[in-house]
Amino acid sequence: MEFALFCTKVNILILILALCSPCKFIQSPMDYGPSNLLETKSSASLDFGRIVFNSPSAVLRPQSPRDISLLLTFHSASSFSKVAVAARGAGHSIYGQAQAIDGIVIEMDSIPSDIYVHKKRDDESGVSYADVGGGVLWVELLEESLKLGLAPRSWTDYLYLSIGGTLSNGGISGQTFKYGPQISNVLQLDVVTGKGDLITCSPTSSSELFYAVLGGLGQFGIITRARILLQDAPQKVKWIRAFYDDFDTFTGDQELLVSMPELVDYVEGFIVPNEQSLLSTSVAFPAHLGFMPDFHHVSSAKVYYCIEFAVHDFQAEGTSAEQVSSSLVVEKISKQMSYMPSLVYSVEVSYFDFLNRVRMEEMNLRSRGLWEIPHPWLNMFVPKSGIKEFKDLLLENISPNDFEGPILIYPLLRDKWDANTSVALPDAPTGGDGVEQVVYIVGMLRSANPASCAAGCLDDILRRNRQIAEAASAGRIGGKQYLAHHPSLLHWRDHFGRHWNRFAARKNLFDPLGVLAPGQGIFPRVH
Ligand code: FAD
Repeated sequence: MEFALFCTKVNILILILALCSPCKFIQSPMDYGPSNLLETKSSASLDFGRIVFNSPSAVLRPQSPRDISLLLTFHSASSFSKVAVAARGAGHSIYGQAQAIDGIVIEMDSIPSDIYVHKKRDDESGVSYADVGGGVLWVELLEESLKLGLAPRSWTDYLYLSIGGTLSNGGISGQTFKYGPQISNVLQLDVVTGKGDLITCSPTSSSELFYAVLGGLGQFGIITRARILLQDAPQKVKWIRAFYDDFDTFTGDQELLVSMPELVDYVEGFIVPNEQSLLSTSVAFPAHLGFMPDFHHVSSAKVYYCIEFAVHDFQAEGTSAEQVSSSLVVEKISKQMSYMPSLVYSVEVSYFDFLNRVRMEEMNLRSRGLWEIPHPWLNMFVPKSGIKEFKDLLLENISPNDFEGPILIYPLLRDKWDANTSVALPDAPTGGDGVEQVVYIVGMLRSANPASCAAGCLDDILRRNRQIAEAASAGRIGGKQYLAHHPSLLHWRDHFGRHWNRFAARKNLFDPLGVLAPGQGIFPRVH
C-alpha cells in the first residue's frame, strides 16, 4: 500500500494503519517525489467535469482489497471517523462525486489488474462470466474476454470507465433495452463496507448489500471485484443511422426497434440541433466515411433527429452466407421504419471498433485541446408520457447554433431494471393503462470551451441545467436525474422518493458513520 500525504490532518490515522499492516508507507512528500506528489494530488481533485476541484488530505494506492478493508476498519474503530473516504475509479464523474475534501481518496487502479474469464463448456450447466477487479476499465475486460470469443452483454458508450464506477451508477447504452443496464448483468460482488467488512455478496447471499451497492452511488461499500455475465461476441456489427424531421415519427420508430429484441442489438438516437453537432457527437461514425448528411435539400426543419441502431453479425471469416442474413435482417427492420427517404447511412465495423467508437471522438477532441475542458452535463430519465414536453423544454433552453456536444435520447424498458437495486427511476404513472414500460434516457453532454465560454457562461449553463432538471422533475414530465447532482438533502429525498427510507436504512446498516463517497453530497457526516 502506498500513501501520499498532503497535510497532517490524517497522518496519525495513517501511522496507526502503517504500523499494523505490512504495507509500504510513504511518510513524507520527499519519499514520494515532489512531481509524483503533485500529480497524484491534482488528479485526485480532478474529474472529467472540470467544474468541482476538492483536494483530499491523502491518497491511498492500495495493492489489495485487504488494504482498503484495513483502512476502513481502523477508521471506524478509531476517533478519526471525521475523515471521509472516496473510491476513485477512472474519475469520469462530472461534479466531484469521486472527490473527498480534506479526506482520503482511494485510487482503485492501483490494485493489480486481475481478470479471470470463465467460458462455459458445452457439457457444462451455468453461464460464461468474468471475475474482474473494481478498478479495472471496461475496455480491459473487453480485450481480455474477446480472446475467448466472449464479451459482456451490456455497455456504456465509452469504455474507459471503471467497473466499480459504472456499477455504482447503472451503466447504460444502446443495449440496455435488451439486456438491462450493466447492474442487471452482475452475478456476484466483493465489497468492503464502510465498516471495513470484506463481504462476497450476490442475489442469494448477503443480498441486501448486493442490491444496495448496485446503483448505490458509492454510499454503502467499495466494490473490489465483480462477476460479470458474458455472452458470445459477434465478429462484426452492422451500424445504421436514419434521420427524421418529426419528433413523433422518430420516437415511434425507436419504440418499434426496442420492441424487436430478437432482431435488434442496439438502439440509441440523438437530436441534431445544428449540422456541426453531427461532427462533434460522441457517437461518431468512422472518420473515413466523411459522414455529413445534407439536410438543406430535403427539408427546411431546423431540428433533426437521428436513430442509430445496430445488428450483430456472427459471420465466420470469409463466409458470405451469414453476411447476407444480417443484411436481410437490417432490410426487414428498415422496411418497417419511417425515416426521411435517402437519409439513411450504414457501415460494417468490427465488434471492438463499434463498442470503442467514442475513443475515436476522444482522440479527435484531445488533438484539438477540447477533451480536458469543463463538461456541464445533464442526464435525465424521462417517462414516455413526458418525453415530448421534455424535448421542447430542452430546445427552449439551448441556443441550437452554439450548442457543443451531443444530445442523446433513446428508450429503455422498465422491466429490465431490478427494483431491488438502489437506482432511482421515475415512478410509473398510475391510472390509464397502468405501468408505462418505456422510459427515455436523455443526455445533454455539453462541452464548455473556455475559449468561447468563460466562467460566467459556465455558471449560466449550470443555472439553466438546474432549471431544466427542476422543471422536468416536477409536474407532468416526471423525470429523474441519472448521474444525479443535487444541492441539498431535501433534493436527494425527492430524488429517491418512496425509496428514500430504504436508501437511508442501507446507509445506516453498511456505513453508519457516513464515511463513504462524500462527493455525492447526500449524507452529512456523523461525528
Ligand atoms: P468515478 O468518477 O471514479 O466514481 C464515480 C462514483 O463511484 C464516485 O462516487 C466514486 O466514489 C464511486 N466509485 C468509484 N469506484 C468505486 C468502486 N470500486 N466501488 C464503489 N464506489 C466506487 N454512463 C453511462 O451509464 N452510460 C454511458 O454511455 C456513459 N458514457 C460516458 C462517457 C464519458 C466520456 C464519460 C466521462 C462518462 C460517461 N458515463 C456514462 C458516466 C459514467 O458511467 C460515470 O461517470 C461513472 O461513474 C464513471 O466511472 P468512473 O470509474 O470514472 O467513476
